[in-house]
Amino acid sequence: MPHLTSSGDEKPNWAIVIHGGAGSDPTKWNEDKTKIREAGLRRALAAGRDALANGRNALDTVELVIRILEDDAAFNAGRGAVLTKEGQVELDASIMDGKTRACGAVAGVTATRNPINLARLVMTETPHVLLAGKGANQFAEQQKVPLVAPDYFLSKARFPESEPHFGTVGCAVLDSDGNLAAGTSTGGTAKKLPGRVGDSPIVGAGTYAANDTCAVSGTGVGEEYIRNSIAYDVAARMRYANESIEDAVTIIMQQTLQAGVGGIIALSKDGKIVMQHNTPGMSCGAADSSGKFETHLALKDGGSPQRRVTTDARKPSKAETEITELLLQQVKDWNQGDIDAFMEPYWNSEQLTFSSGGKVTRGHAKTLLGYKERYPDAKTMGTLAFEGLEFQALGNDAMQVLGIWKLARDNQPMTGRFTLVLRQFPEGWRIIHDHTSKTPEKNSDDTVQQ
Ligand code: ASP
Repeated sequence: MPHLTSSGDEKPNWAIVIHGGAGSDPTKWNEDKTKIREAGLRRALAAGRDALANGRNALDTVELVIRILEDDAAFNAGRGAVLTKEGQVELDASIMDGKTRACGAVAGVTATRNPINLARLVMTETPHVLLAGKGANQFAEQQKVPLVAPDYFLSKARFPESEPHFGTVGCAVLDSDGNLAAGTSTGGTAKKLPGRVGDSPIVGAGTYAANDTCAVSGTGVGEEYIRNSIAYDVAARMRYANESIEDAVTIIMQQTLQAGVGGIIALSKDGKIVMQHNTPGMSCGAADSSGKFETHLALKDGGSPQRRVTTDARKPSKAETEITELLLQQVKDWNQGDIDAFMEPYWNSEQLTFSSGGKVTRGHAKTLLGYKERYPDAKTMGTLAFEGLEFQALGNDAMQVLGIWKLARDNQPMTGRFTLVLRQFPEGWRIIHDHTSKTPEKNSDDTVQQ
């Protein structure tokens, strides 16, 4: 099977990804269960695809698709919800609008046919984000959403669940206006204590959407998703560490969540689709405007990419990119013989420390003077290059940079190392400390300065 977890390079006009829960190995299911699951996924995905192709927005599409899955007894949400230890259903759901970050959720509702619908009403009709238990049930009555009697829920009769968790449903959508939305709905974990609330109605844990990054829905042992803010962590990794959506999900699935815990579906603002699970199976599916339409009960290698993804393989952070640009500009200025411009990234303060060859200079003015004395003209300045930059963030607004400098002058190449400490000021990154050393040359008269 080809690797199917991300779409091609072309940005699709719209995209949708769904899940129907992570858990047991589908190769062990009987034919009936396999067929019913597959048909349920295809039906919901096709409805989502058609809605998006007809210009429906992301939020409406998420609600529409999840309603279909809630009405399908093959999934642990709505009609097919698992029961608590006391034999009741307690349903959880949430929905989030990536455009406005508006969100709504319900937990522990007992008579609402479509909890995702109620979650959306919490979002639009109340100033709140999450209603639980009795209050959520009352809200359902007030809103006149379709209510059902306990015997509507068929899970126990039709699909006795031996699995601790399986069949939660979720959906993430990018619409043709570039808006993202996500939602999740579940009966929770089978035989849960009455009152137990999982991750599905917790925004940031089981569901998250923000137009600047991605839309996410999770499924698995909800407690782990809450502990690790899983859905938000996908977005945070993209936002703050510049990770691709695939790297973000892979790192979480491989390093944050233990094997066997669950799965994630995620969709980036560019329409990249990721589906991964570290359980034997995950019912899921994806479609987009390029014609993609696929459903799975399990993905090869849990959908993880063949290459090894580590946090080291990440792209440079925003700070690293900005500082690299600053240093490259410095090199340019130096090579144009402009020491004043070269000095601009240095902190314009008496507290600047500049240490070269063991001699420490304090303050911007003295450092500049020192440079001008050592390098009175462009000829003495020669040609500078920086190499091998290594970054170490020191909190959020400071960075240590290690590197090698090389100076070519009069056929006398010189080289050495530097350690810079930069701080982020309102005007940008500034070097507040510079420690430069020179590497001694063999057979040279140069005094070793370190
Ligand atoms: N995450 C859900 C919960 O803990 C269950 C699941 O996804 O299977 O309530």
